[in-house]
Amino acid sequence: MCGIIGYIGPKDNLELGMNSLKRLEYRGYDSAGMAIIEEGKISSERVAGKVNELREKLKERDSEGTPCLFHSRWATHGKPTKENAHPQFDCKREVAVVHNGIIENHKELKEMLEKEGHEFSSETDTETIAHLVEKFQGEGSSLEDAVRKTMELIRGAYGIAVISTKDPEKIVAARMSSPVIVSSNKEGGFVASDPAAIVEHSSKMIFLEDGELAVIKRGGVEVTDMAKRKKEKEEVRIDWDIKEAQKSGYPHFMIKEIMEQPETIENTLRGRIIKEDGDVKLGGLEQVREELKGVEKLTLLACGTSYYASMIGKFLIEEIAGIPTEVDLASEFRYRKRPYGRREAFAFISQSGETADTLKALEEVNNKGALSLGIVNVVGSSISRYTDAGIYNHAGPEIGVASTKAFTSQLAVLTLFSVFLGRQRNLSLNEGREILEKLESLPSKVREVLEKKDEIKEVAKKYGEYENFLFMGRRYNFPTALEGALKLKEISYIHAEGYSAAEMKHGAIALIDESFPAFAIALSDSMREKMVSNIEEIRARSGPVIILGTEGDEGIKEYGEDSILIPEVTEPLSPLLSVVPLQLFAYYVAVSKGFDPDKPRNLSKVVTVE
Ligand code: GLU
Repeated sequence: MCGIIGYIGPKDNLELGMNSLKRLEYRGYDSAGMAIIEEGKISSERVAGKVNELREKLKERDSEGTPCLFHSRWATHGKPTKENAHPQFDCKREVAVVHNGIIENHKELKEMLEKEGHEFSSETDTETIAHLVEKFQGEGSSLEDAVRKTMELIRGAYGIAVISTKDPEKIVAARMSSPVIVSSNKEGGFVASDPAAIVEHSSKMIFLEDGELAVIKRGGVEVTDMAKRKKEKEEVRIDWDIKEAQKSGYPHFMIKEIMEQPETIENTLRGRIIKEDGDVKLGGLEQVREELKGVEKLTLLACGTSYYASMIGKFLIEEIAGIPTEVDLASEFRYRKRPYGRREAFAFISQSGETADTLKALEEVNNKGALSLGIVNVVGSSISRYTDAGIYNHAGPEIGVASTKAFTSQLAVLTLFSVFLGRQRNLSLNEGREILEKLESLPSKVREVLEKKDEIKEVAKKYGEYENFLFMGRRYNFPTALEGALKLKEISYIHAEGYSAAEMKHGAIALIDESFPAFAIALSDSMREKMVSNIEEIRARSGPVIILGTEGDEGIKEYGEDSILIPEVTEPLSPLLSVVPLQLFAYYVAVSKGFDPDKPRNLSKVVTVE
């Protein structure tokens, strides 16, 4: 789950590499490194620290060389030390490799290579790749053939980029389960693990498929498969504005992305609502439109925040479209025996479209031959390519490790999807129109919530010192409570539990005392009275309560020490609004405790290992 950059061309390598790497830091940041071919030799710099430390080290250097590789690591094998940082090298330092993923059979390969006399200098699984390339180049192979032969031996997940002094006019990149994007134009040739890293230099990207290998030279890119067959690859145009991939004056990506939500929800909805028909147009589902009419059951598969969005999606689809819907953790799905229905469809929800657990579940469903749909943000990502059809979020790049705008855009997509399916079934024109009108009014309501950010910041400051926290809600806002708890744990390291308020009395209420505050989502909806009873149960045990209520419901304030009121919103769409104060709360608690919410410890944005 690291960031990879490779560049060959006339520009200032170090400047370009470091700027691009900075944009990938969210993918991994426990150590960083670079290597460059200069005067026929590999020279490198590695640090057991953040990308900025590497930048400091490189300040003194002036480099004319090319090609070069950059990497920010999220360790899987071996501690985040300088020796384990990438690039990894062969015995003679003629080969440099950067890698994203895990080589599962690295132990056997290392044993074999050691017997042949290779000497290892790190604990990483990655180093085996460098020695294998060395071995095959030593037997006379070109760099690309040596990498191909290496691919025949290694098992697991990898996105790699390799350079060698024996074949210095190219970078070779290859992919198996981990994303690799290549591109070339008059500025040179690029390799990256995310379009956001190189979009400043090139907007036309080629996404490698599993088992493909690319040779990137100054003049262009050639992609081949394992049998050396040339592949004609489509160039995907990525229209992201470079400013979108930067902080635009905000102190952190997370707050920038929280504040962007009115626009990102608008972008998700843009061009998709046909008001006069009470219907939606989803281009990505056109080719399966007829098939979807016959679907009798849906299963949503996702992990983390996307899983909570899916829980809300289940309620939306069942209520709006009337289709029985299940939600499953993608990580657990393929390990149990599960009967498949004949008219069943599956939707895979992932911001990056690269989440390994979700991809594996997709593989399983594809093997069974069932209809698979993707709901992803990153265009051209693996899930978008391996599903039969799908819907893009259009939320722009999400850099903050804690997902915010992707969550609300997923909810917007799931609402559109529900109306789409509903209009194929019993949802009337008027009902469809009513939901869509409410959906369209959401961005301005989210804006109103964001205007309360200073008020929320004040509340957050009061609660930063607690060690435990409870988030509770009912019905549509039960998953919102789960998401609120996840946000707080992810970035402020406070133990937080998300609960259906009704479930408290079945166990967790035993934890409550004056040192265990609760955030209660008690909007003016069908669950308000039940929520009030559950809040009373907490108060009777001296638990401090923060209320999230609806504007105009002044009475709700009396149940909490603190309260935040948000505009009125119809219940099925309420999580799109109620999650925003929870995101802001988690953000301000983390900042008040001096943590960097963009780099939470132990976490990585795109989880490309199982
Ligand atoms: N498995 C490799 C390592 O631990 C790569 C990890 C990554 O993707 O950053 O070094």
